[in-house]
Amino acid sequence: GAMDVTEHVESVYAELRRRDPGESEFHQAAAEVLHDLEPALRKHPEYVDARIVERLCEPERQLVFRVPWTDDRGDVRVNRGFRVEFSSALGPYKGGLRFHPTVDLGTVKFLGFEQIFKNALTGMALGGGKGGADFDPKGKSDGEIMRFCQSFMTELHRSLGEHTDVPAGDIGVGGREIGYLFGQYKRITNRHEAGVLTGKSVAWGGSHVRTEATGYGVVYFLQEMLATRGRSLEGRRVVVSGSGNVAVYAVEKASALGATVLACSDSVGYLVDDDGIDPELLKEIREVRGQRLPAYAEARPNARFVESGSVFDVPCDVALPCATQNELNREHALTLVKNEVFAVAEGANMPCTAEAIEAFREAGVLFGPGKAANAGGVATSALEMQQNASRETWTFERTEDRLATVMRDVHERCRATAESYGGASHDYVFGANIAGFLRAAEAMMAQG
Ligand code: GLU
Repeated sequence: GAMDVTEHVESVYAELRRRDPGESEFHQAAAEVLHDLEPALRKHPEYVDARIVERLCEPERQLVFRVPWTDDRGDVRVNRGFRVEFSSALGPYKGGLRFHPTVDLGTVKFLGFEQIFKNALTGMALGGGKGGADFDPKGKSDGEIMRFCQSFMTELHRSLGEHTDVPAGDIGVGGREIGYLFGQYKRITNRHEAGVLTGKSVAWGGSHVRTEATGYGVVYFLQEMLATRGRSLEGRRVVVSGSGNVAVYAVEKASALGATVLACSDSVGYLVDDDGIDPELLKEIREVRGQRLPAYAEARPNARFVESGSVFDVPCDVALPCATQNELNREHALTLVKNEVFAVAEGANMPCTAEAIEAFREAGVLFGPGKAANAGGVATSALEMQQNASRETWTFERTEDRLATVMRDVHERCRATAESYGGASHDYVFGANIAGFLRAAEAMMAQG
C-alpha cells in the first residue's frame, strides 16, 4: 500500500508503451488521463493496490477480424475489422464504429479508452468500447456499402447484444450504415433486438435527436462554460472545423442561440461566410445532396472556399474542432490565442494535440475536452436504449430536454470534481478525467 503514486502511474504508462508499441494515439489518450489521476489515487490508495489504472488501460477483450466483400466489378476485396471491448464496469460496452482508411488497432484503442471516461461522465449505465474498419467509404456505391456492412456484421454479430456490446456510428458510419448492419444482425440471429445498435432510423426503433445530439450537446456544454463567466452565445463569432454530422448540428444549434458561425471545413479546405453560415443550406448541401463545401460558397454572395491555410486562421471568440483527432496543433492554438479566442470545445474525439491544450491552458482559454463536451451523442444513445427497452418513443422535445439536462450535469460534474480535487473549477480536462475515472473505479472495486 505504500507504493508512490507518481511512480505507480509512470510504471503503468511505461508498461502500456512497452506492450503496445506503435499505438501512438492510444498512448496520447492514456497519457492525458493518467497525468491527472494522482490526486484521486492519493485519496484512494485501495485503487493503487487493486491496480485499477493498469486494469483500465488493458481492454477486457479485443477483436480483430477479416471483412471480405465483393465490389461492383465482381472483384473480392478484403478489409480489417476491429472491436475493442474496453470496459464493462458500468454497463454494456458502448461506442461507435468508424470506417476510415486510417483506422488501425491503435486508433480504435484510443477511441475506446476515451469512451470509458466519456460514458462514465454521463452518469448513465454505459461501459466503453469502440470499433471500425480500415474501409474507405469514399466513392463506394450504395450496394458496395451494403455488402461491406453485411460482411462486417456477419463476423461481429456473435460478440454483440443489447446487454453485451452496443455499437453506434462514428466517422464514416451514419444512419444508412446502421440500417444495413442492423438488418444483417436481425437476419443472422432471427431477433428484432432493437437495443443492439443505436443511431437507428426513428421509423424502426431509433430515437429523436440522436442525429443532432453530438453537435447540439457540444453547444449546450459550451453555453454552460460561457455562463460561468457571465457570457452567452449571443453575437459571438464561432468557427467550426469539419462538416460532418457533429459539425453540421453544432453550426445549427450555435446559430439558433444567436451566434454567428463564420466558418467550417472539410479535408480539402475551409468555407467562410461573412453573413454567417446558413444551417439549412449547409444541411441541404452536405446531407441531402451529398455535395462538398464549394457548392455552398457558390450559392451565397459573401461566402468563399479557401484551399490554403487552416479554418483556425479565421478570427473568432469560440472554436469548435469537430473534424478528427489531432487536427488542431500548437501552431493553430497560438493563432487562435493571438486572435483572442475565448472558449474552445471539442466536438471530435481528441482533436487538439497535447501541446495545443497546453497553449490554451497557459492563455486562460476556457477549454472543454471531448470526453465531456461531445458526450451528448452517446448520452442520447443511452436514451435510445432506454426507449427500446420500454418500447416507447419519446417526442423530439422530451428527448432534447433530457439531452440538455445530461450536458448540464456533465458540466457540473467536471466543475465540482475539479474543485474538490484541488484543481481550478474551470479545469475541465482535470475534472472530466477524475470524475470519469472515479465512477468506473468504484464499480470495478465493488465487482471485485
Ligand atoms: N461515436 C460517438 C462517440 O464518439 C457515439 C458513440 C455511441 O453513441 O455509442 O461518442
